[in-house]
Amino acid sequence: MAATETIAPPRVQDKKMLIDGKWVDSVSGKTFETINPSTGDVICRVAEGDKEDVDRAVKAARKAFESKACRTMSAAQRGRLLYKLADLIEANAKELAALETLDNGKPIRDSLNGDVPATAAMYRYYAGWADKIHGKTIPVTGPFHTYTRHEPVGVCGQIIPWNFPMLMQAQKWAPALACGCTSVLKPAEQTPLTALRIAELAMEAGFPEGVINVVPGFGPTAGAAIANHPDVDKVAFTGSTSVGKDIMKAAADTNLKRVTLELGGKSPNIIFADADVDTAAKFSYFALFFNMGQCCCAGSRLFVEDKVYDQVMNVITERAKKTKLGDPFDHATTQGPQVSKEQTETIMRYIESGQREGARCVTGGRRVDRPGYFIEPTIFDNVRDDMAIAREEIFGPVLSVLRFKDLDEAIRRGNNTTYGLAAAVWTRDVAKAHRLAAELRAGTVWVNCYNVVDTAAPFGGFRMSGLGRELGEYGLANYTEVKTVVVSMS
Ligand code: ADP
Repeated sequence: MAATETIAPPRVQDKKMLIDGKWVDSVSGKTFETINPSTGDVICRVAEGDKEDVDRAVKAARKAFESKACRTMSAAQRGRLLYKLADLIEANAKELAALETLDNGKPIRDSLNGDVPATAAMYRYYAGWADKIHGKTIPVTGPFHTYTRHEPVGVCGQIIPWNFPMLMQAQKWAPALACGCTSVLKPAEQTPLTALRIAELAMEAGFPEGVINVVPGFGPTAGAAIANHPDVDKVAFTGSTSVGKDIMKAAADTNLKRVTLELGGKSPNIIFADADVDTAAKFSYFALFFNMGQCCCAGSRLFVEDKVYDQVMNVITERAKKTKLGDPFDHATTQGPQVSKEQTETIMRYIESGQREGARCVTGGRRVDRPGYFIEPTIFDNVRDDMAIAREEIFGPVLSVLRFKDLDEAIRRGNNTTYGLAAAVWTRDVAKAHRLAAELRAGTVWVNCYNVVDTAAPFGGFRMSGLGRELGEYGLANYTEVKTVVVSMS
């Protein structure tokens, strides 16, 4: 398919939720609007799940987990279902990309060439694992045959955000289903559409009824009902650090359900003078502005060594000026709208705080005068480490640039954050690169690259950026319980 083929915004019917293999209204009959962020118009109405709907979905997921269909399904067959789903995603790539762009606002070139292929790849990667998940035989003392079994953890509650809706769903569903778990998934209220469409495709692929359930709705109602449910065995959450804390409290107060959290970040991206400076600067623009700045691993604190500071500022401000901001369905567009009115207002408050605290807005700083939620790419200079724009996650197109003099200072200031999701270093000096890779307190350290996230490599946060690791082989551990079996041989 040509990457520049015209794709029109699709017309979308109102949506129900998926419980026990059936598309149903919410118990309350309530619905909510999902909004097109590039116009502010309503796309359609979606069934609004609440505690009772979550309860029905959990019962369905439990029944499926204990059903003969699941108990007797071979691991290889689970893998085949995941492969089939990946094929269906690919076969419907244009439709899914259009739906994602309509609901989230991301440029069609990104959803078509990035999100959809990465989603299919995620299902394929874990499809391959399905029949390779096994325990060990352990040589213990005495006449005992001791081995471990990696059993599915059970019913999983999975709560996802709006920045990569399709990909986040795959990041939750693919490992859970490969391990033989069942799921109640809540998409973000801003972007429920692709999760519902992929659920349809998963049913078409042949997953038994109740294995996957999707309950759209709001965080404090549907989301909290999942986190507080006594019959959910595990909750996997991606979103803000403050909600992550609530999820953990809820898990502790109910049944000690297993918890994995992928949370926020304020990632340091460090350019040394000995780097290929123009390339570093070019990618550092991408590091923050990709996906309209709405990435948990965004390189939002750009540290630049004194000697090359002006050179870097020139490159990134030029790139900001060349950014093609506008209709996300136009293939030339590189920056679409922010996801919602609320997010836009939060970002504008951060821009005002940066100006108030004395940072210099080098470019951008305003909303774009058109319908929808567009903000100019914004770069702040003269940023101090104690300013809110240098400490707090903005989740928008706002870059803070900070100046440093030497390596120890870069490490100290880079680590001066409560977060620890990602970090990057740009240098041609191998020793320096490895020293920083070792000393930066982050779940991922990129050297001379940024935003390279691969299904096969673990991803997750130190400190308040999260708990546990997703992706790769590590991601499987979140969805299994290890059982030790001891058999007397005497
Ligand atoms: P953001 O601020 O980026 O929207 P949130 O953490 O608020 O991130 O949302 C991420 C996901 O968590 C969404 O699906 C949202 O509905 C859900 N959520 C929000 N609040 C809660 C809550 N109290 N309990 C459970 N889920 C929640």
